[in-house]
Amino acid sequence: MVKKFGKIWPIDAVVAVTYRCNARCVMCNIWQIKDFPEIQASEYLKLPATLKDVNISGGEPFLRQDLFLIVKNIKEACPRAHIVISSNGFLVETIKRLLPEIKKIDPDIGLNISIDGIEESQERIRRVAGGWQKNLEVIRFAKDLGLKDLGIGFTLNNENYSETEKVYDFCLRNKLNFSIALAQSSDFYFGGNKYQVNLNKEQLQQSFSFVINKLLKSYNPKNWARAFFVDGLMKISEGKRRPLESKPGDDFFYLDPKGDIYPSVIDNVIMGNITKFTTFDGIWLSAQAEKARIDIKGYESNYWFVCTARTAIMRNPLKVARWIFDQKISGAKSTISKLIKTNNQELTK
Ligand code: SF4
Repeated sequence: MVKKFGKIWPIDAVVAVTYRCNARCVMCNIWQIKDFPEIQASEYLKLPATLKDVNISGGEPFLRQDLFLIVKNIKEACPRAHIVISSNGFLVETIKRLLPEIKKIDPDIGLNISIDGIEESQERIRRVAGGWQKNLEVIRFAKDLGLKDLGIGFTLNNENYSETEKVYDFCLRNKLNFSIALAQSSDFYFGGNKYQVNLNKEQLQQSFSFVINKLLKSYNPKNWARAFFVDGLMKISEGKRRPLESKPGDDFFYLDPKGDIYPSVIDNVIMGNITKFTTFDGIWLSAQAEKARIDIKGYESNYWFVCTARTAIMRNPLKVARWIFDQKISGAKSTISKLIKTNNQELTK
């Protein structure tokens, strides 16, 4: 936790640089928003140096022709931040033109491509004809470019629970990171779409349990923490309380394309507009920001997004370690009992 002037300072942010989008996804209305103002690239120089993770999202970020300059300015303002661009991966030629320039500025830049199904499923959900081949071309290009942090973001929605295993296997085969999210709606993000996931308990469990088991079996401790996150998604989808409380408006914020800062992508109260202040401190210490924090206290929605969850996980390492330990022990017990059963069957043959 970073503290300054008696306040918690943000370490994680989602920065939507545009609401323009070239896809028409079934679970999102952002693409219907017309003429939403966009701040100049220079405004991103005001972001706080405390940030450790910045997710550049949209809309489709590569629709901003000055994306290169935006990344440059974020890197300058937040030199310790790991920056990841979340893209639908359909703008093949633009990505091929901009990504090499961006990588020169930030060699550690991450790229996360949204894939919700294989081939026809992806094109049906994202409503982009020929989109699958475009995604493959972008992935190949990013790999050849030597991007170290290249991943697939899978959003579980009403159309694709049966695609979870296929997309996971696709990632495994192609050595891509896999992340999963649940389609969750917001008054002002996702184009104000009130999308509801109507999958039944078995369908949700099938998807989430598959991913949790795979992540826990990996040798990478980061994947174990990811499994904890996915377990939280399963809890939310079952109507249970999220496993950890987050601190939106303290260690996290959401910046929209016109410069308004919100405590999170769900909490619909504006803390201030970045264009109205000369420094980020001015916003973070303002009376309006403080009022926003008070307004959402106790009324926080029961959401579990990777951005706010990540900061909650970092603040509660012991709870997370305990969950991982318990899962590993119960996994080991079930493996041993399966082995004993097989052994007994062999002996009685
Ligand atoms: S989910 Fe992303 S890619 Fe799809 S319409 Fe919304 S902003 Fe565009």
